Amino acid sequence: MTKPKNIYLTIDDSPSRDTDKLVDFLSAQQIPAMLFARGAFMEDQESFAKIVRAIKHGFVIANHSYAHERTSEIGFKNQTDQIAKTQTIIDRAYDEAGVQKPPRYFRFPHLDRGCGNAWVIDFETVPALYRDFVQNMFWDGVRLESKEPPTPAQLQLKTDVQNWLKDNGFQKFSPPDITHPWWVESELSQAIDVLITYSTSDWMATPRHLGKWPYRNTDDLCQKIENDPFLQKTDSSHIILMHDDREESLTITQKLIMYFLNQNFRFLPLTGARE
Ligand SMILES: [Zn+2]
Repeated sequence: MTKPKNIYLTIDDSPSRDTDKLVDFLSAQQIPAMLFARGAFMEDQESFAKIVRAIKHGFVIANHSYAHERTSEIGFKNQTDQIAKTQTIIDRAYDEAGVQKPPRYFRFPHLDRGCGNAWVIDFETVPALYRDFVQNMFWDGVRLESKEPPTPAQLQLKTDVQNWLKDNGFQKFSPPDITHPWWVESELSQAIDVLITYSTSDWMATPRHLGKWPYRNTDDLCQKIENDPFLQKTDSSHIILMHDDREESLTITQKLIMYFLNQNFRFLPLTGARE
């Protein structure tokens, strides 16, 4: 049997209408995942209960800020207040579930870490050989508001939020088995927020976005998986990005997960208790 390709599954924008079904599907397949929850989505009791339920099923609930706003637009105080507010809700969900809290993990909405979504990282830190690949990974299909290099103020904002996250108990997610040279040797492995090594672009196949983006259906998304030069490597693990919030996204998620399983990918656990 060929060696499996190990992936960590991260899912953004929980909870949604379909979170219970998503949790049941992943549980049935014995697939662990980290769900990045939005604070504003957990305010009503029914949605909060879905997060509590996911925790009881063994999923890691991570922080995706409150109102899903861009850090470069709303600034330090607003974004960190939103992250703190969201963490309070997540902690309450763990208490209600009676489950020990895992490390605090955070992912920026729109992957805007302070410099806009065009500049997720300083691409100069990526070895030159891989720079185009990494830029494409983050830019693929994203409507960039600007490709102007970040301003000194934006760079400072990025640093300030990183420091705030460290000071407030957030931990980086950079397992040693992720060994892509462009990860290990760049800012990616140092970030205190959770980044990715592969985006499924699953949202492109939802009715709202359909036909407007390079990948038009799940077949295209499977082809993208097959064509990715690093995702097919067995010598490194991968951090995969999927979504929970979109209309009809559950069907897409299920198809992609089954595709991953059929292609000999193995989903690794992401747990580890805090304290
Ligand atoms: Zn999001």
